[in-house]
Amino acid sequence: QFDEMVYVDKLTMVSEMAASFAHEIRNPITTVRGFIQLLQTSTKDEQLQQFAPLILEELDRANKIITDYLQLAKPNDFRVRPIDLHHVLRDCVQLIQPLGAFANVAVEWDRHGECRVLGDEQYLKQSLLNIMKNAIEAIEGSGVVKISTEAHSQRNVVKVIIEDNGKGMTEEELKKIGLPYYTTKSKGTGLGSMISNRLIREMGGTIHYTSQLGKGTRVEITLPLVK
Ligand code: ADP
Ligand code: MG
Repeated sequence: QFDEMVYVDKLTMVSEMAASFAHEIRNPITTVRGFIQLLQTSTKDEQLQQFAPLILEELDRANKIITDYLQLAKPNDFRVRPIDLHHVLRDCVQLIQPLGAFANVAVEWDRHGECRVLGDEQYLKQSLLNIMKNAIEAIEGSGVVKISTEAHSQRNVVKVIIEDNGKGMTEEELKKIGLPYYTTKSKGTGLGSMISNRLIREMGGTIHYTSQLGKGTRVEITLPLVK
């Protein structure tokens, strides 16, 4: 049995802890990274030359984890207000399209249905980008990520749908999405979905995944509609 309240409380605790450490840890990492790079170019030591790229890679991995956490850990500047969903999606698609092109994935956005929703613009973008990034990363070879919106006036919500025709997930995998550190990627952090889920919930929205192994994944996000 999945206890929603306990889960939310734990996430809040995790994010508060992270907020107090993330900045402090990032500075020394940046300094060390700089020195390793400097040594790498000037040294004649073969072992150092051999291992420097590995050291840099691990430092980058640490940085990536911190970056993901920092996004989650700023509840102070979180401000929910009416925002133009059309603008948000346009910015996201513009940002993500180069990544898609690089991975042979077409990012298609069905622009119809302009509307305003309640949310924090920055954090909504961050959430949607995380989900779009996952969609692109789920595609091996080439494929399509489709983004669309539907306004449901009776229910007072807007649905944002992000669909990919990537590798999909089993039911077991589907259940684990959003758990801290759950990743199937060699260079994943397993924090992206946790952050997206948390931020969307914080805005009074919901997020729902459906998936078919080998066929693809559909993510439905609802946000409060502003009439
Ligand atoms: P990361 O991307 O760093 O692995 P996430 O929290 O963003 O961490 O995602 C966790 C895991 O959920 C991914 O490693 C992947 O296995 C699975 N996942 C998320 N989105 C999708 C998707 N659209 N298609 C298939 N698998 C997905
Ligand atoms: Mg991710």
